[in-house]
Amino acid sequence: MKNVYNKEDVSDSHLEKTQKDASFYKEMFEVMIRNSPVSVYMIENWNFTYVNKNFCSLVGYTEEEIFAGRINNLIHPEDLFLVQGRNTGEETDARYRVRINKKDGDIIHVEIHSTKLVRNGKKVLFGTVFDVTKEVTANILLKESQERFKSLFYNNPDAIFTFDLEGDFTDANPGCEVLSGYSKDELIDMSFTPLIVSEDLATTLNYFVEATQGIANSYEITITRKDGKRRNLEISSFPMKHTGKIVGTYGIAKDITEKYENRKLMEELVFYDSLTKLPNRKLFEDRLKQVFIISETNKNQPTVLFLDLDRFKFINDSLGHHLGDEFLKTVSKRLTNNVGETDTVGRFGGDEFAILLPNTDRNETILIAQKLNHALAQPFDVMGHSLSITASIGIAVSNGAGESVDGLIKKADTAMYYTKEFGKNSYTFYSAELDQKTAYKLTIEKDLKNAINNNEFVLYYQPIIDLKTRELTGMEALIRWNHPELGLVPPDNFIPISEESGEIIPIGKWVLYTACSQNKAWQHLGIPPFKICVNISVIQLQQSNIVQTVKSILDDTGLDSQWLELEITESILLEDTKTLKENLLNLKALGISMSIDDFGTGYTSLSYLRQFSFDRVKIDRSFIGDIGNDSHAKAITSTIISLAQKLSMGVIAEGIEGETQLSYLQAENCDQGQGYYFSRPLPADQHELSNHIKKYF
Ligand code: C2E
Ligand code: MG
Ligand code: MG
Repeated sequence: MKNVYNKEDVSDSHLEKTQKDASFYKEMFEVMIRNSPVSVYMIENWNFTYVNKNFCSLVGYTEEEIFAGRINNLIHPEDLFLVQGRNTGEETDARYRVRINKKDGDIIHVEIHSTKLVRNGKKVLFGTVFDVTKEVTANILLKESQERFKSLFYNNPDAIFTFDLEGDFTDANPGCEVLSGYSKDELIDMSFTPLIVSEDLATTLNYFVEATQGIANSYEITITRKDGKRRNLEISSFPMKHTGKIVGTYGIAKDITEKYENRKLMEELVFYDSLTKLPNRKLFEDRLKQVFIISETNKNQPTVLFLDLDRFKFINDSLGHHLGDEFLKTVSKRLTNNVGETDTVGRFGGDEFAILLPNTDRNETILIAQKLNHALAQPFDVMGHSLSITASIGIAVSNGAGESVDGLIKKADTAMYYTKEFGKNSYTFYSAELDQKTAYKLTIEKDLKNAINNNEFVLYYQPIIDLKTRELTGMEALIRWNHPELGLVPPDNFIPISEESGEIIPIGKWVLYTACSQNKAWQHLGIPPFKICVNISVIQLQQSNIVQTVKSILDDTGLDSQWLELEITESILLEDTKTLKENLLNLKALGISMSIDDFGTGYTSLSYLRQFSFDRVKIDRSFIGDIGNDSHAKAITSTIISLAQKLSMGVIAEGIEGETQLSYLQAENCDQGQGYYFSRPLPADQHELSNHIKKYF
């Protein structure tokens, strides 16, 4: 094979080739540098002698402008010294940063990598320029934000702190010192747990763990300061990250003690009864709602007891509102002490209470109702006064699905009304049929207010007869209510209600006035005078002005006081108060006679009978009615008759309906009698009544 390369040939062509290559490479490098994406420059004698395209676009000047201008104009005046130092300095290579004033006025940050050479005795500087504006501004922003953070951290009035993953303080601002009473030194490396009150510890730990897992939270806790005082805080807790990894947590604590206390006060005002501090109706309803929700899964039977004190109005009126309030507080305590810890006793206002038994059965409920009745029956000592009270209780048991909060309370209320009307001091379980009965009562309560103005009351009169002479000795006035829809309403159906509402005061006054003027009218007709017997309620007798009222009625009607007798039901005499005693004595002093009604049903003491020198005793009609078939009733009747006689009191038998009763009473020497046998109660204008009157003279 022929060697194509001759040695001489080679050396000749090599030189040529090398020369060719050198110019090729030069051109290539020139093109490369000119088009390089990096800015390249060369400075000789403090003048630019080379810049590439990228350099021109970086500073915004054309090549010609750069060559014609001065470096000074390009470099930011404050950084000029760096470039000048470079010019005069010794080292060959250097890297530094300056600001450049671009042609359009913008300032950019650049990093210059410069090399210094001496060529032909001249200093030549050349190198590359990188735009580092983004990096520099980012650094500036970072620094600024760090400073801002520092300032926020240390100057913030709120407490700001950081914890490591164990919950030990790693930093704490002065706000923490103010809030906790510990110095920063004491706090650092201390765990947060000893600061938290025990009841909040579990939730706080939970939030801390959540923060270490990346979850931010806001919550309220209470801490104990170094001095032992409690503060309420609102905490915001966040995860603390370093290069994406959670390294601890940080938090902000705001002292909300004042706000917390105000809120508590507001809550108390909104949810608690200010007198007894018991939950009010709103809170009670709320708790019942919660119990309903739980009972849906637990299948238990929430039960509501509605409790209304019997004749509280009387206590309140006779003792004054201040003592009445004290009494209610004591009642509240007794109620609370007699139910379980999970039960709620609430006050709905006035003398109305409600008790929520979240989970109970019928037998247990009965026991509680009995216990409550019993507890209230024990005498109360209210500021030196011994008082006793009874309560009417209504019970409603939830029937599960579809029961509403209002509905259940209403049912208990309905049942309570029933107890009040027919039992008192007892309890009733709600049943649907009670609804109708209470609707009647509610109508009565509502319409009673206008009954006097509407002239709906009438008095009926029933003769009282001397059993020996068969003469008329008196007439009992008995009220009837001519209700526009309900018809003639008997007194037993509205007197107790009027006593509860206080309506009895004007009604009683009307009765007294009407009865006295009727008696005076009979006298004017020339009929021999007899006593008009008027039933009087204890509520009236408790009024401080009752004596004055009676006196002015006698004056106005012109009836002499000897022709008026007041009938006081025996049971009311149990109310043994100073006002009552004084009023009884003063009424007697007016010359009025007084009788004890329904005797045998209450517990009047003999000393009481003597003390107030009652003129007559009226044997309750329940004993008279039983005379024919009950030896017990006979015995009681005889005992009352002889007792009255021994005390020199007259005795009247009520409710004589037949011969058997009459002859027994006559045999027992009973003075007087009253009953259907002689006459039913009749209105004054009735012909029959006039005949009766005439018949007995
Ligand atoms: P009370 O004072 O014991 O009146 C007697 C009641 O027995 C009356 O009932 C009368 O109608 C009824 N009665 C009379 N004779 C007989 C009889 O032979 N057999 C039967 N079964 N009953 C007889 P009334 O009128 O329904 O009054 C009921 C109660 O209402 C009264 O009992 C009284 O305590 C009260 N009351 C009536 N009017 C007034 C009033 O104006 N003021 C006050 N505070 N109470 C009144
Ligand atoms: Mg009577
Ligand atoms: Mg009676």
